[in-house]
Order: sequence, then structure tokens, then C-alpha cells
Amino acid sequence: MNVRCDELRATDLARGHSLPSEAMTLQPYWWMAAPRDTEISDALPAQTDVAIVGSGFTGLSAALTLLKRGRSVVVLERDVPGFGASTRNGGQIGSGNQKFRVKKLIELRGRRKAEELLREGTRMLDYIEHLISSENIECYFQRCGRFRGAMHPSHFEAMARDMEDLKSVAGVESFMVPKSEQHSEIGSDAFFGGSVLPNDASLHPGLYHQGLIDKVRSAGGVIVGHAEVFSIDETPEGFTVKTAKGDLRCRETIIATNGYTGGVVPELQRRIVPIGSALIATDEIPETLLAKLLPKNRVYGNTNRVFYYYRRAPSERRIIWGGRVGRLVDRASPSAFRHLARDMLHVFPELSDVKVTHGWDGLIGYTFDEVPHLGRTRQGIHYALGYCGTGVSRATYFGNKIALRLLGDPDGRTAFDDLTFPSFPLHPIAKHAVPVVETWYRVRDAMQK
Ligand SMILES: Cc1cc2nc3c(=O)[nH]c(=O)nc-3n(C[C@H](O)[C@H](O)[C@H](O)COP(=O)(O)OP(=O)(O)OC[C@H]3O[C@@H](n4cnc5c(N)ncnc54)[C@H](O)[C@@H]3O)c2cc1C
Repeated sequence: MNVRCDELRATDLARGHSLPSEAMTLQPYWWMAAPRDTEISDALPAQTDVAIVGSGFTGLSAALTLLKRGRSVVVLERDVPGFGASTRNGGQIGSGNQKFRVKKLIELRGRRKAEELLREGTRMLDYIEHLISSENIECYFQRCGRFRGAMHPSHFEAMARDMEDLKSVAGVESFMVPKSEQHSEIGSDAFFGGSVLPNDASLHPGLYHQGLIDKVRSAGGVIVGHAEVFSIDETPEGFTVKTAKGDLRCRETIIATNGYTGGVVPELQRRIVPIGSALIATDEIPETLLAKLLPKNRVYGNTNRVFYYYRRAPSERRIIWGGRVGRLVDRASPSAFRHLARDMLHVFPELSDVKVTHGWDGLIGYTFDEVPHLGRTRQGIHYALGYCGTGVSRATYFGNKIALRLLGDPDGRTAFDDLTFPSFPLHPIAKHAVPVVETWYRVRDAMQK
């Protein structure tokens, strides 16, 4: 098939087997407004107070906190700054409270700990809002609310009970929308009603990341692209960080590599499994149609274990649709995104003739216990990672907290500090078992429909 990037319809993509790579732009849609160019890269100095590995939200948020406290900081990035998940995500911001049902969390951690973790999740959302407004970062942050569609009547009932628990344990507001009224929330009959968390939010990840880069640099921070870190060795004064651009001496280091964590610190690598997530962006859609499909302009998801998520782009009339990565297909081909188009057309059949312009993916960092972790290794290296796919607010917040901990500030304390950070049993196998586990979850999702 010979299809140009300005003419690939959603229905062609959903059917597509051997689409040519030029049928769509295989780069994050967000990079159009915030290009990843080499200008956001500085020269490597010989020394600094703190070296941070990874230039996403965690690394930049930590850098900003440290710079404001008078520390010199160098952020080291393997690729162009912002190459990782922070400029590739869906821009949906929650408190991370949707990972576990509240009852499950209480079973696992006890009521007091569950309450502390859930309340801290809400503070993460408040923190990112505060940071964006106090730093004047223009990135379309909006408390738009989240609608989660039930994929089965039993999911609706379970969600209703969970929302009540969330209110009683952590004070989180929400309301349920029955199927008979769901057109007030979504122009689709694909769901059996849903829940709304009105305080959840959205932003443009590319612009938010660019805003953080600008703030870090104007506070005197140095951000070095194409400076892969190979090793971190202890010295009497601190550490020597060996990078692709030379050595950097520093007193302290922070690892902020989340789903892109490699073997620089093996004890962290064993604790993170990278999982792919992918998105597509449509071309502009007529306003009347968009207003019918997404009347409240919220962020959206569903109740499946392997779920999809979607929203309107902040300044354009496009839909951004995300989900798992394609399996058994060439990841550099538009065909790798066809399952996303299929899911989108299942929910919104009206979009069949709408063009799909962008497709991209990225890595999220999963932990064995499905909670994020921050702390210090035996060697004295600080880290904050493992956001399990809900990292926009968590990474920003953890970056700030790990920086405060490094400074010895008691405000760096979190409810996550005393959690053991388990490694994956048989990590190399766990890494490769992800598609198997995901397929099993999809089968279970399908059986429940
Ligand atoms: C497709 C997708 C959709 C998502 N959607 C959402 C969403 O809607 N809402 C939400 O809350 N979360 C979402 N997430 C998760 C969220 O984006 C991440 O949790 C968050 O951005 C993690 O930020 P980070 O700074 O910790 O890591 P990243 O932004 O991933 O940055 C890590 C960086 O470390 C660099 N690095 C790795 N190793 C080295 C090394 N040795 N030397 C130098 N640099 C190195 C990498 O190149 C990378 O740039 C999504 C993630 C993906 C991939």
C-alpha cells in the first residue's frame, strides 16, 4: 500500500499490515510544539556538587530544587534531553491512586499505611499544580477531571465501591455516571457507565518538559545531551561519573532513569522492568464532532487490566489515543499502532475517516510491588523511580523529595521511605515475560466482557 502521512485514515491503520513508514510521523506529537533539538544541550564541566542521570521530570525537578538551595547541578542524558517517557506520555495527571483498589492496598499494607500512601498521592497532584503555577510554566495544565469507562457491569459496581473507599480513606472526591447518563460524559456506547475523578488533570508534556528545562538552565543548571553514563565510582570526595563525553567529579549523584534504567547501578536494574506503551495522534477533527465525543474535555481511560487512555490535544482539535505497544510487529512501522486505531474505532466508530498523523512509543518503569521508590543505595547513590505508568505527577514530586533528602531536609520525608524495594525474582526472565503476562491479562479482560 502506498499511503502518505497526510492521508492515512484510522480505518486504514486499523486494517494495515504492511504500511510504509512514511504513512505517519513516527515521533511524539508533542515534539511538534517542543522539538528535541541539540540546542538544549550544554558542555560537560569537570566537576559539580550533584550529578543527575536522566533528564525527564524526575531529574529536572530534582535539579530545580537543588539549584534553588545553592547547589551546582549537572543533568546527564544518554540521548537528546527529554528523550525518555517525560516527553512521550499521554499528559494525563492523576494522584496514582488508581493502581490498586483501596481494599487491596489496605490488605497489602494495612489501613494506616494505605491511608498515608493515598493521601500523599493527592499531594503529588497538588505539588505539580503548585510548581507549574509558581514557575509560570505555560503547558496547558488544567484540572479537567478523569472519566473511566466500565468495560463490564461488574466493573461499574466494583468501581463504585472503590470510589466510596477512596473518599472515606483519603478524602478523594468522585462520582459515578450510570450507563443511561454516560452521554453527558462521552459520546460512546462502549461502556457500562463510569466514574469521574473531577480533580484529575492534564497538560502538554512536551511544553511542561521544555518549561522545566528553561527553569533549570536559567537557575544555572547544566544539561548535557549525548552523555550516556557508563559507571559511577566512589572517590574520597564523592564520585567520578564516567560519561560518553568524559569524566565528571561530584559529591553526590541521583539516578532518575525510570523505564530506561540500565546496568549502571545493578541493584536498581534488578528492581525495574521496562514496559512499552504507545500512542497515536489523529489529525484535526471538526469541533462539532469532538464536542459530541468528548463533551467535558476530560482525560479518559477504561477498567481493563491492559487499558487504553485518551484525550483531546490541548490546543488543537485532535485525539491522542494510547495503550500497550504492538506485539510481533516491526516497532518502526505504522502497523505497530494498528491495535490502537482498532480500539479507538471500537469506542468512536465516527472516526473511521479521520487521518492518523503520529505514532510513537516509550518505556514505563515497573516495580515488583507496583509502587514507586526513592532512597539511597549501599554505595550512597540516591534514586527515585518505578512510577508504573503514572509518573507525570509522581516523578515531579519524587524528584523534589529526593533532592530534599539529599540535602538532609526533613521535608524530604515521604510515606514511601520505609517501604522495602523488592527486586524481581529472575529479573532477566521477568523482563522477557512481559508480553506473556500482558497477553494473559488481555485474555482475562476479554473473558469478562
Ligand atoms: C507512552 C507513555 C505514556 C504515558 N502516559 C502517562 C500519562 O498519561 N500519565 C502519567 O502520569 N504517566 C504517564 N506515563 C509515565 C510517565 O511518562 C513517566 O513515569 C515519567 O515521565 C518518568 O519520568 P522520569 O524522569 O523518571 O523518566 P524518563 O522521562 O523516562 O527519563 C529517563 C531518562 O534517563 C535517560 N537515561 C537512561 N539511562 C541513562 C544513562 N546511563 N545515562 C544517561 N541517561 C540515561 C533516558 O534516556 C531517559 O531520557 C507514560 C509513559 C509512556 C512511555
